[in-house]
Amino acid sequence: MNIENLPRFHLAEFPTPIHHLKAFSKLEKGPAIFMKRDDLTSLGMGGNKTRKLEFLIGEALDQGCDTLVTAGGIQSNHCRLTAAAARRAGLECHLVLNGTPPEMINGNLLLDRIFGAKIHYCTRPERDETLYKVAKDLSKKGRKPYVIPVGGSNSTGAVGYVNAMLELETQMNQMKIMPDAIVFATSSGGTQAGLTLGARMTGFKGLVLGISIDQTKTGNQPFPPILTKIANETSLRIGAGIQINEADFSLNCDYLGAGYAVPGDLEFNAIRDLALTEGILLGPVYTARAMGGLMDLIRKGVFTKNQTILFWHTGGTPELFAWADQCCQAF
Ligand SMILES: *Cc1c(COP(=O)(O)O)cnc(C)c1O
Repeated sequence: MNIENLPRFHLAEFPTPIHHLKAFSKLEKGPAIFMKRDDLTSLGMGGNKTRKLEFLIGEALDQGCDTLVTAGGIQSNHCRLTAAAARRAGLECHLVLNGTPPEMINGNLLLDRIFGAKIHYCTRPERDETLYKVAKDLSKKGRKPYVIPVGGSNSTGAVGYVNAMLELETQMNQMKIMPDAIVFATSSGGTQAGLTLGARMTGFKGLVLGISIDQTKTGNQPFPPILTKIANETSLRIGAGIQINEADFSLNCDYLGAGYAVPGDLEFNAIRDLALTEGILLGPVYTARAMGGLMDLIRKGVFTKNQTILFWHTGGTPELFAWADQCCQAF
C-alpha cells in the first residue's frame, strides 16, 4: 500500500474529532450515536471534499498545473471547497455551475464569490461539455488547467476517504468503540468507494451504509457500477491488492424525497432534533437527508438500543443559508 508516496497538499488538521451524541441518541430512543466531524475540517467552512482535494491538488501541483476547473450545482459544497483550496495552493479556480444565477447570492455561492472563483453558468445537460470547453479555452490562453470531476469522485479523490478509514481505525481503538454501522450521505461516490475499500483494508466488521441523496440502484445510470469502478481504480492506485464487487456496497435509496436539493419534513426534522439536543448543524441537501434516513431506520427497528452507530458528518452547513426561507417555515 502506498498512500504515503502519493502527492498530497495539506489543507486541514486531522484527525477530525469524534463526538458521542448522548442527548440526541436519547431523543431518538435507539443506538448510541457517535459523530465523526468532517464538517470541522479547517478550510472554508469544512466538509468531506477537503480530504479528496488534498490528493487532487497534490496531483495538480505535481503536474505543474496552475488552474483548477470543476463543476457542480449552484449550491455545491465541492465547488466552494475547491475555490477555497485553490486559494491556499495559489491556483486560479474556475467553476461550472448548472442553473440560473439567483437574485440573492447566498450560501455556498456567496462563498465562491468571496474566494474569487470565476463562475460559468450552464444548464444541467450542458455541464460536462461546458467543463471541458472551459478547460480547453484556458489551455488556448496559455494556462495549465487541472480538471476535477463533479464531487472530486475519481481514484485520486477517493484516496482521501481510504485514508479517513485508516484514521478512524486508530480513533476507534483509542476510544474503544466498535460501531455496528457507519452511516453517511452518498452522491457522487468518492466517499463511499473510499470508505468501503478502507473498511476492507482495515478488516472493519460493521456495515458501511451510504444513504443516497440522489442516486438509484437501477435506471439510466445505476450507482453500484459507478462505486465499484471508483473503488477498484483506487485500489490499483494505492496498490491495495483488493478487488471490490457491486455486492460489497451497502446502499439505501429510500430517502430521495422530492429530488436533489429539495428538502422536506425528513430533512428539517433531522436539523431540528440535532440542533436542539447537541447544538450541531446539518445541511438540508446532504447531511440532513442522511440523518433523517438514519432516524427513520431507528424508528423502524433496523438499528436497536444495544448497538453503536457512527454517523459520518460530511459537512454542507453553508447550505442552510440558501434554504433560509424553507427553514423559517419549518422552525
Ligand atoms: C459531496 C457531499 C456528499 C457526498 O459525497 P460523495 O463523495 O459525493 O458521494 C455528502 N455530504 C456533503 C455535505 C457533500 O458536500
